[in-house]
Amino acid sequence: MTTHALPVEGSCLCGEVRFRVTGRFITAGYCHCTHCQKRTGTGASIQGRVERTDLELQAGAELLKAFVPPAGGRPKVFCTGCGSHLFSGDLSADAEVAIRLGAFDGPIDVTPAFHMFVRSAPAWAPVPDDGLVRYDTAPAA
Ligand SMILES: [Zn+2]
Ligand SMILES: [Zn+2]
Repeated sequence: MTTHALPVEGSCLCGEVRFRVTGRFITAGYCHCTHCQKRTGTGASIQGRVERTDLELQAGAELLKAFVPPAGGRPKVFCTGCGSHLFSGDLSADAEVAIRLGAFDGPIDVTPAFHMFVRSAPAWAPVPDDGLVRYDTAPAA
């Protein structure tokens, strides 16, 4: 679904964590869940999913920490130096992981395909009427 040259590079706000992606996005979409609201301080978060083996950490791995929601949900991986949220998923075990699109350093060619957890969207950040597929919670696997 993407045509940009690979790899594409990304980093956190402080710049200590750097990564690159060597494969195409599997999919990308907006998440309106309450976890994303809390961790970002915004109404929704957009991320792209890639094969875990296509994500290469180039610097700052020691700064990464994963918050694992006790009530369930994927691990949220962030930089402890600046608080930037970068990834979701188990970076050492999952077949696929998600990357927060705002973490990429340059333009990436990716087309969001869906909105998920639309039932959790707050009144102050309604889901836009953009024609994308909507899921009440997570898409069926
Ligand atoms: Zn950082
Ligand atoms: Zn979410």
